[in-house]
Formats: sequence, C-alpha cells, structure tokens
Amino acid sequence: MRNFDLLEPKTVTEACRMLDDGEDVRPVSGGTALLILVKQGLLRPRTLVNLKKLEGANAITRDEAGAVRIEAMATIHQVETSPVVREHLPVLAAACHQVANIRIRHLATIGGNLAHGDHQSDPPGVLVALDAEVELSGTRGTRAMKLADFLLGTYETALEPGEMVTAVTVPPVRGRLVSDYLKFTTGSSEERPCAGITALVRLEGDRPVEARLAVGAVAARPLLLCETDPTEGALPRMAERASEEIDPIPDLRGSAEYKRHLVRVLGRRALAAAWKEACP
Ligand SMILES: Cc1cc2nc3c(=O)[nH]c(=O)nc-3n(C[C@H](O)[C@H](O)[C@H](O)COP(=O)(O)OP(=O)(O)OC[C@H]3O[C@@H](n4cnc5c(N)ncnc54)[C@H](O)[C@@H]3O)c2cc1C
Repeated sequence: MRNFDLLEPKTVTEACRMLDDGEDVRPVSGGTALLILVKQGLLRPRTLVNLKKLEGANAITRDEAGAVRIEAMATIHQVETSPVVREHLPVLAAACHQVANIRIRHLATIGGNLAHGDHQSDPPGVLVALDAEVELSGTRGTRAMKLADFLLGTYETALEPGEMVTAVTVPPVRGRLVSDYLKFTTGSSEERPCAGITALVRLEGDRPVEARLAVGAVAARPLLLCETDPTEGALPRMAERASEEIDPIPDLRGSAEYKRHLVRVLGRRALAAAWKEACP
C-alpha cells in the first residue's frame, strides 16, 4: 500500500488551493465511502485534504426569506436532528434518519454524500424533490447549480477538478408542504436503498396546488415528476408515469422490471400518504 499525505486546511480558500494541485489530490469528509475505495485499491490518492476541520462548515441555518442552507460538512446525523430541518423540511430529516446506521450517520456528511454521486443513496432524491441547489467552490470562485443538474450519473457529478461542494440550499417554500419518504431495501433496513421515493403535496391555503414525485436510487439520476392543480384521482397515474419513464439499473437488488414495479407501488403509496395528510 502506498503512503499519502494528509492536509488539514482551516478555511475553504486554503482547501481549494490544496485541491487545485493535480489529479491525485482528493478531499475527504466523513471518509465512509472514500476510505473503502482506498482500502480496495480502487483509488490511490497522493494527497488527502481533510475537510472536517474547516471552521463553521457544518452549520444549518434558515434565512428570513425561508431558504434553508446546510453547509457541506454537516453530518447526516446533524441534518436528521437539526431543529431547522425537522421543522421546515421534515421529509429530509426522515430520509437522513434512514441512511445506513447511527455510526455511519455520525461520520458521513451531506457534502460527501452528494459529491460521491452513488445513485443508491437516500438524500439526493429528496433534495431534488425540494428543488435544492448545491454551492461549489474552487480557486476560480464559487458557483451554484440545481442539484438535479449536478448529479450527472452513477459516480458522476458536475464537480470540476479542484472544486468542492460547500453547501446545499433548499429555496423557500411557497405555501405549505406535506411530504412522505419511503425507502425500500431488499436486505436489512440499514442497507443502501433499492428505491427511495419522495412525495410532496404543496398547499396554498387549503388548496393543493402542486404534487411532486421523486424517484431516487433506482436509476443513475433521480427522476422528478411534477403536476400542477393535482387531484386525488390523478395520483396513481403519476406513479404509473414514473414507472414508465424511469430507466432502472438492474443489479443484485432486483431486475429492471422488479424496480419498475417498486416505483409504481411505492409511488402510489407515498403520494396517497402525503395526500391524506394534506387533504384529510
Ligand atoms: C455500510 C454503509 C451503509 C450505507 N448506507 C447508506 C444508505 O442507506 N443510504 C445512503 O444514502 N448512503 C448510504 N451509505 C453511503 C454514505 O451515505 C456515504 O458513504 C456518505 O454519505 C459519504 O459521505 P462522506 O462524508 O463519508 O464522504 P467521503 O467518504 O469523505 O467522500 C466521498 C467522495 O466524495 C468526495 N468528497 C467528500 N466531500 C466532498 C466535498 N465537500 N466536496 C467535493 N467532494 C467531496 C471524496 O473525495 C470522495 O470521492 C452507506 C455507506 C456505508 C459504508
């Protein structure tokens, strides 16, 4: 096994400078994904830049307009237990609560989860349903983009060499959101999801004005369907459409046909649960 250098920047500017020093330099956050790849010999970084010591890089805040900003170093456990997330984005707290087990959740970060780009993850689908943006920083500056555009495929993201994820932001919600997240695994509940389904119903006053269905973990990228002025009767059709439009990746957890079936069944269930709460 080859040795590597471990750098420990204190600021984002310092970290970006270190990351911009060639291809063999990798950021490490919780290390729950990266260190497995290193141990398996699939990655042989010359230098690891430890982002865990960045000051203030795990804050979770809500601004006056209602946007929720989660700094990239926030652990999955911090997201799951944050009073801001629990009050304003309970569906994200619910999904994070279902990631792996408590030991992993204490180490793994939201930035590491998104940057890793493994499609079999819980947070990306939920965050796409919530229309989240990621903030990326590098030596050439900071840019923001929709998470849906950032996630390009399995282990593929729009990160440029030398860039890091510094935050994820969920824009203010107009009206009120009612939501449901269903995770399905083919093994123990701690496993990576075979499917992660998010259903949202947005209300203005008492009127449902939008329904969203996001399918995560089934295809290389999350699939999002939106319907304006939804009716209860239209929801099963939405789940049906998702199962037709998704391009499932067959694997040990199930065939493409099996996963389509899951999307149809779980999509209906999640939408029905959100609708029941929105329009009792
Ligand atoms: C046993 C086990 C079970 C799991 N189960 C689930 C599950 O049920 N659901 C689920 O969603 N996930 C699951 N995971 C995956 C886990 O959520 C990810 O490993 C974790 O989120 C990655 O975060 P990290 O901070 O540990 O990233 P790291 O391992 O530190 O890094 C991962 C990758 O992202 C890069 N990186 C890290 N931080 C940044 C950054 N800020 N900017 C740019 N690049 C960065 C690294 O260079 C590396 O390529 C499981 C993992 C394990 C080991």
